[in-house]
Amino acid sequence: MSVRLCQDCGQWIWSNTGCCTDCGNLADEAIDADLIARRFKTRIGSVDSPMGHVRVSRRKLPTDGILYSTEHGLFFLPHRTVTAQRLVEENQSSLLWHIAAILWAPLHLILPFVRSKKMSVKLVEEQEPIRLNDTNLHLLPDLLPRMPGAFFLAAKDVASVRGSRKSWLFERTNGSKVKIEPLSAQVFEQRMNELLATERWRSTTGQ
Ligand SMILES: [Zn+2]
Repeated sequence: MSVRLCQDCGQWIWSNTGCCTDCGNLADEAIDADLIARRFKTRIGSVDSPMGHVRVSRRKLPTDGILYSTEHGLFFLPHRTVTAQRLVEENQSSLLWHIAAILWAPLHLILPFVRSKKMSVKLVEEQEPIRLNDTNLHLLPDLLPRMPGAFFLAAKDVASVRGSRKSWLFERTNGSKVKIEPLSAQVFEQRMNELLATERWRSTTGQ
């Protein structure tokens, strides 16, 4: 079982056969990221703007990220996972604290303070949004082959879109449905309705 990018579907999938679980096409494990990014730049088109923070219903791949609208569809950029040091109050110092003090020398400077407060450092994994601005927004397609969990949903591959305040369901002409839950429902709904009213989406979804 390994995670790989299906270049036909524009999505990362887990596969134990080497083939995409949605379209059945071969998804190579070793990829040339530059080459794939160049190919997808045409398919994705110019990047418009972020639609908002969303959560994608799926297993074993990043679920939280930012959805962008592009010239030809929607691009999901997952948050990156970072390991952060967090000070937490504790009754006694733990093994983790001693390890952390060895690994990060500056911690020695706050050691007395931390000990007197019965605090310790814990290493926690956190989700951190990748923020793109006007100057690097065009690099979004380059992140598809470099960020496992990213995906591009081409408008031409969407058969129907059903939305509610809580979630939006994209039925594809080929492959499984994509369920997207916006974190800011009202703003997302407004942006989505504006997007679906554009010629690009009207012509594909017939709505
Ligand atoms: Zn596929």
